[in-house]
Formats: sequence, structure tokens, C-alpha cells
Amino acid sequence: MAGSEFTSSSIGLTSTIPVEILFAAGLEPVDLNNLFIRSVRPEQLLIQAESAGFPHNICAWIKGIYSVVMNHGITKVIAVTGGDCSNTIALAEILSRKGVQVIRFDFPSNRGRYELTTQMQRLCRTFSVRWKDVEMSKKRLDRIRKKLGKLDTLTFQDNVVTGEENHRFLVGSSDFGSDPDKYEMELDVFFDELKKRQPRKNEIRLGFLGVPPIFGNLYGYIEAFGGRVVYNEVQRQFSMPFETTDIVEQYLRYTYPYGIEGRIADISQAIQERSLDGLIHYTQTFCFRQLYDIILRDVLPIPILTLEGDRPGSLDNRTAIRLETFLEMLKQKKGDFF
Ligand code: SF4
Repeated sequence: MAGSEFTSSSIGLTSTIPVEILFAAGLEPVDLNNLFIRSVRPEQLLIQAESAGFPHNICAWIKGIYSVVMNHGITKVIAVTGGDCSNTIALAEILSRKGVQVIRFDFPSNRGRYELTTQMQRLCRTFSVRWKDVEMSKKRLDRIRKKLGKLDTLTFQDNVVTGEENHRFLVGSSDFGSDPDKYEMELDVFFDELKKRQPRKNEIRLGFLGVPPIFGNLYGYIEAFGGRVVYNEVQRQFSMPFETTDIVEQYLRYTYPYGIEGRIADISQAIQERSLDGLIHYTQTFCFRQLYDIILRDVLPIPILTLEGDRPGSLDNRTAIRLETFLEMLKQKKGDFF
């Protein structure tokens, strides 16, 4: 793979961070997860990392990130070493020994305002960015974030957006495709397309919980079985659907890096507001976040199907059958619509 599409302004991200700071610095953030999963042959990237010594029982996303950094010649990476994944700590050290400049960012485990402000100010100093430029950058991105809120409403209220489309735009907001203007233009074109669509009716309304899926065709299967995802929990969080003028507040309200309570409140609200019939909790093989399944099943009031994915590719037959059975059960529960 060639690295020609990346410039000296490109900077890789292992997870969502305050990208407003990077755009204010004139940098082009690249979410390495998106780069991995959208590559032509993601499976090959895992084999490459395993050949470099990454064990089989390390999550595929970590291996994918390693390989894309190596293959694309990315020289700077921001590693989220607090509030995301402990594997990232060791990955950061491996990348650093390979000559990559690694900058750490830690979301504070206490969700403390002071601690998060300190992290953000440190990032500003690293890139010689003034706080007032970050605030300008926030205003620019907020305009797009507002449109993403509209896209989400068109998904669950107007029922004209598929779960996959919702996923694609929201997951892409972690780095705005490295080019917010282009990203916003694509969004506007998409809104135009939606004007021709009729609302969908009589379907099972689902919420998708957990990290974005590694399967390529999950949403297509769900729709083929009569369901539609009208709430993509973590992807929506990437889009920061919070109306606040305070950037620190924005990243304190972002639920993903902190404890489960914030996520439970967000999911519970979505169940009510979006009239969800059921939930799919996606878990990644070898990920510590699988344990949250115990709590989510304990507290959430509607049926949950837990799916586990390991490597990129199509949905395997067993998972497809479980999905179909779950949707059949929800259809029967819902009653006469079908
Ligand atoms: S899926 Fe889990 S183990 Fe893998 S990178 Fe994300 S948090 Fe870490």
C-alpha cells in the first residue's frame, strides 16, 4: 500500500479525541480504525501484524492500527492511553520504537473537569495552538455536528435513513474524513438524496450498542430480516450530539471514555425516545469491554442480543441465524404488524 495520500500534516488517532485542537493547528487527523476497516484487504493487515509478533489473542483493531501506521508511513500518532483501551499503552510503545512520534492523550477516569482541561491544554501546547483558535475550530465543527444531529433525527423520527448510512456518517465524524469541508459537502448531497425517499414502516426498531462492528455487512442482514438500526450508540457519541458552547463540557459529556453510568443513561433515553424494540450489543473478541454485557443485561429493560466479532469480513452463518431468530422473536413480541 502506498502512503502518498498522507502528508506531513497527517496525524493518526487511535480513538476519538478533541479534534478541534488538531484542526486549529492546521493538521489533518486520520482515525486509524476507519483507515483499517475501510482498507481493501483488512484481513491482510492482521496477518501482517501477526507476522510482526502480535499474538493471536490481541484484539483485531489494535493489530489493524499497527499495520496501517506502518504501511501508510504515518509519522505522528495520538494514542488514547486513558479512557479507551489498555492495549493502546503497549501499542504506543511499539510504534514509538518504530520511529513514530507518539503523543499521549488521557481521558481522566474521574471524569474531572480540571483533569480534562489539563489534558486539552497540554495538547494545545504540543501543537502551539491558542485556546481561542480551538474555540473558533469548535464553532466550525459544531455546524457539522448539528447536521449530524439532523441526520440522526431523520433516522429515528422521519425513518428515511438506513442503519448503515447512519453508522457511516456518524463513525466518520471522529476525524471528519480529515477534511471537514468535503465531509460537510457529502452530508449535504446525502440530505438532497433523502428528499426523494418514502418513510419506512412496519419494521423492528433496534439500537446498536458497543464499539463499531468489525463485520462488513451486519446492517444489510438486519434489514433483510425486517429490522433497522435507529440508534448507533457509540458512533453517535463520536459525533458529540451535545449543544454546548464549552468545549471541555462537550468532551465531559462524551460517554465512551468514562464509566458505564453515562452510557446507561444515554441508552435508556434512546430506548424511550426512539421506541426501540430490541438491542444488539456488539462485543469485540479479546476486548475487556465484553464484561459490560453483564451490566447492560442487568439494567436495560428490553431484549438484548449479544454478538461477538473477531476478524473483519462477512457475518458468519451462526451469527446470521442468531440475528434472524432474535428478529423473529421481536416480531412476535411486537404483534400484528407482520
Ligand atoms: S475493541 Fe476493545 S480491545 Fe479492541 S481496541 Fe477497542 S477497546 Fe481495545
